[in-house]
Amino acid sequence: MQFHLNGFQPGDPDKHAAGDQSTRAHVLPGETDVLIVGCGPAGLCLAAQLAAYPEISSVIVEKKSGPMEKGQADGLNVRSMEMFQAFGFAQKVMRESLWINETTFWAPMREDPAKIHRVGRVQDVEDGLSEMPHVLLNQGRVHDMFLDLMKNAATGLEPFYDHGFETLTIDADASDYPVRAVLSCTDENGEAQEKTLKARYVVGCDGARSNVRKAIGGELHGDSANQAWGVMDVLAVTDFPDIRMKSIIQSHKDGNILVLPREGGYLVRLYVELDKLNENERVANRDFTVDHMISAANRIFSPFSIDVKDVVWWSIYEIGHRLTDKFDDVPSDQTATRTPRVFTAGDACHTHSPKAGQGMNVSMGDTFNLGWKLISVLTGRAAPDLLHSYSDERRDAARGLVEFDHTWSRVVGASGESASTQSGDMPHFQRAFINNGRFTAGLTIKYQPSTLTGDATGQALATGFDIGMRFHSSPVVRLADAMPMHLGHAARADASWRIILFAPAKDPLSVDGSFQKLCDFLEADPASPLKLYTPAGADPDAVINLHAVFQQHFRDVEIGDLPAVLLPRKGRFGLIDYENVFCADHRDEQDIFDLRGVDRDKGCVVIVRPDQHVANILPLEDHKGLAEYFANILLPVADK
Ligand code: FAD
Repeated sequence: MQFHLNGFQPGDPDKHAAGDQSTRAHVLPGETDVLIVGCGPAGLCLAAQLAAYPEISSVIVEKKSGPMEKGQADGLNVRSMEMFQAFGFAQKVMRESLWINETTFWAPMREDPAKIHRVGRVQDVEDGLSEMPHVLLNQGRVHDMFLDLMKNAATGLEPFYDHGFETLTIDADASDYPVRAVLSCTDENGEAQEKTLKARYVVGCDGARSNVRKAIGGELHGDSANQAWGVMDVLAVTDFPDIRMKSIIQSHKDGNILVLPREGGYLVRLYVELDKLNENERVANRDFTVDHMISAANRIFSPFSIDVKDVVWWSIYEIGHRLTDKFDDVPSDQTATRTPRVFTAGDACHTHSPKAGQGMNVSMGDTFNLGWKLISVLTGRAAPDLLHSYSDERRDAARGLVEFDHTWSRVVGASGESASTQSGDMPHFQRAFINNGRFTAGLTIKYQPSTLTGDATGQALATGFDIGMRFHSSPVVRLADAMPMHLGHAARADASWRIILFAPAKDPLSVDGSFQKLCDFLEADPASPLKLYTPAGADPDAVINLHAVFQQHFRDVEIGDLPAVLLPRKGRFGLIDYENVFCADHRDEQDIFDLRGVDRDKGCVVIVRPDQHVANILPLEDHKGLAEYFANILLPVADK
């Protein structure tokens, strides 16, 4: 964490950017750059990114009267944790949450099918997938982390609760604030009131029944499994031995249970299979209660029992797998002539069962993809047609999720008989769980080749950084202070890019070498992306961070020999930022070059997008390719 750049600041560094908040008024403006509808994970993740930019005005509205306290989603996969690291609150989540280390599988006993027994167990997240754990934490606490970030950011952004979004109109001829949104609220006398707000962009993060989606003519398409499920967060006493493990239980005839131990040591969530629904029947038509759920749980747990002492939260739902056609307001046949003004994200554009724990994760993934694009356009770094890529990229990701959910919910929902008739030793549901491990960890999303994502031409230079997939971090040692850390943790959720130079093994700093020549290009050439896209007066890393990784031990690289471009001067005193240069960590058998298949002889350049996906891999000699990559996306400062 970096601070004191422009002078010593006392107190909590997390609050430095907020400055004096006492004079801030919380009044709904008449116009705003971005209106976000909905304070769920999608809306808050977007708001937290925008809030750090004082030049961007944002409003976030929520129809409920205050922040969420309990219920809904609780699963945070490793990919979300990697993202939280860039927001700066992963450590806090790690301390507070329940870590899922092991998953166990239970099925009917052959000799007495009315009783279940453990038939398998598996490490939950495969070794080496990520440095982050898979954790469970109340969705409300995740909201709190984003709300804190927003409040402590330069804009001190806070939601307008009790403000419901009704509808919107888009005036394509109005260049400044073309979207007119209608909001409903109540005045101080409790009378219903309508307010209008003009916005450059509106983002509907307003859940499965999204009014924003309806306002742009979007519809969810898909099907239902016609199966009622219940979920309850409880404090209970039980003799079921795996109550503090994630457990998937398939009974013979009484349905299935998913056990999810929760944060704090005592709370546990049970997903309980209830009845089959008839075709087109809604779960609301059945009179399911929490007592139905507790009775069903006791039948499924047999020979064990569960004595529920306190029900903290519960809900009954049916499983639907649905997806919208488009995540923005521009029909596919008009993308050449119009750029998007209205977007939908999260459950507003894809719904699925909660059993794979993806809802909160994919929703935040949507707005982590959209956030940097909106920031780039609103700050003039990129042209508005960049915004088309949001729907293209995230719809593909959501389609994969809905398809996966279709299969997985049927695997979990299968009867225990199928668990005991599998081939070989491993039950079918355990094998399916293992096979899907990377998907549920959030690590299979791969953006297809486009302006933003290169093709496989340079892949051989670093086979372990998959182009289009998330940057897979690895241990390094920071040169200046010998700090052992993860290279991925140098990324921040601040809409900036990273160019990482992996130096060749031999004489990396020789004047005629490819590494030094690239540094010279980046420092002085008029075509250098660092020069072209950094606004005058801004810190050199405001738009693109340049990092370097050497193969040598940190004691064998002299700071004084480094090219100046790797030691950028920042802030009002022109202080040196020493935190951009790293060395391989020699304490383990394999270092980052081995682990990620980086060509030791040639080295390479890895470009990482602001949302942590690998954009492209280039040879160190390809100055032109590096310049062209950014020229296709960013606008030179002089052109603005
Ligand atoms: P949401 O979290 O749904 O947030 C949408 C927000 O928009 C809400 O705060 C809502 O009040 C607000 N909003 C809606 N309409 C308007 C409007 N017109 N104007 C202003 N604000 C509006 N997932 C699981 O994994 N496990 C579960 O057990 C589980 N249970 C759930 C139970 C319920 C009742 C619901 C609704 C969802 C549940 N989910 C569960 C799904 C999970 O919570 C979502 O996948 C995830 O929260 C999606 O995030 P989101 O931000 O897209 O939408």
